[in-house]
Amino acid sequence: METILFLSPTEAGSPLPKNALEALAATKQLADSLGTTFSVGLWGDAPKADDIASCGAARFFAVTGAEFAQPRYATDAAAAEALCRAANATIVIGPAGSRWNRVLAGVAHRLGGRADSHVTGLSASDGSPRIARWYYRQRMEGILSRTQRPWVLAVESGIVPAWHGEPGTAVVEAVSCTPPAPRSKVTGIESPAADQQTIRPDADLLFVTGAGWTKKQPDGQVKTAEAEKLILAFLRLSRASLGSTKSLVDLGGEGHATLPFLTHMNQVGQTGSTPRHAKGLSTCCHGEEPHTVGWRFVGERRAISLDPNCGWARGKADVLYVADAFAVMEKVNGLLARKAGG
Ligand SMILES: Cc1cc2nc3c(=O)[nH]c(=O)nc-3n(C[C@H](O)[C@H](O)[C@H](O)COP(=O)(O)OP(=O)(O)OC[C@H]3O[C@@H](n4cnc5c(N)ncnc54)[C@H](O)[C@@H]3O)c2cc1C
Repeated sequence: METILFLSPTEAGSPLPKNALEALAATKQLADSLGTTFSVGLWGDAPKADDIASCGAARFFAVTGAEFAQPRYATDAAAAEALCRAANATIVIGPAGSRWNRVLAGVAHRLGGRADSHVTGLSASDGSPRIARWYYRQRMEGILSRTQRPWVLAVESGIVPAWHGEPGTAVVEAVSCTPPAPRSKVTGIESPAADQQTIRPDADLLFVTGAGWTKKQPDGQVKTAEAEKLILAFLRLSRASLGSTKSLVDLGGEGHATLPFLTHMNQVGQTGSTPRHAKGLSTCCHGEEPHTVGWRFVGERRAISLDPNCGWARGKADVLYVADAFAVMEKVNGLLARKAGG
């Protein structure tokens, strides 16, 4: 019989984030399909389990201390290891994120187990757990099991709805862990203002910009400044996540006039990212396979291109608007602004 443990770091005063609640839901589903129970392990400054008291966990464990508040390999790994040992866990499930992804391999090694990251599915077959993972840039899905225990997993966000339920009072078992002497300290966090942060994994819409925005337009003019204004206005009004083609983000590296808010982090495709959004709108992009392969998990796909023979027209998009994206986006922004203004 497997002993399943859901693990997550916590931040003082904040509820568990969405990706942790999704991993909790995935843990619960796995335990249900294996016909067993699961436990919860939390660590941090003052980890509180009350928000998830009704999740159905058989036991709650916590490593508590100011030393465990900051994201740091040494203290995160020590806390996770102590929790796994306290729970006697054979299957350990945490949310893919910077903290858990950084330590899961080390924790598995200390426990003599095995680790798998980028898990996109958990299931049971003949009483044994199985995981799903994508390979070869998301082209092939593999289902695998392992005999080694503990099996330490990082579950990707977006694969199951987040757990939600009534808060309550959880009976938490304190786990002792002597923190290793820290060699690093977080002195502050620098992050772009919310409006400058253009990659928004939780957005319903992915808005992709292609190199066409910076190319000579039918009237013979290059309109990069106008493109920048239209794109930023649309992002502000729609709260969409911004993706790009490789051609457009590469332009900056070549010293060409380009859109300064785009980096390779925005690149979608074979050598870029494979984001998950309910809808996608591509603009000024040709829709070539190395780019559209990154749209694998985008639900409904639409594109605006001047070229009626572009890749989008050949089965890559559900709807292709053969139109000038400058004109279309100006109209769309006007409609959104009017809607926002009531
Ligand atoms: C090994 C390899 C890996 C690659 N990986 C990636 C990857 O990860 N991601 C990626 O994106 N690419 C990748 N590429 C590159 C890819 O093959 C394409 O070259 C790239 O996606 C083209 O970008 P684009 O469509 O923006 O530019 P273009 O091909 O230049 O297309 C621009 C389009 O904009 C249209 N247009 C111009 N003006 C307007 C207007 N006013 N309104 C509407 N439409 C307009 C044009 O008609 C044209 O169709 C890879 C290539 C290779 C060989």
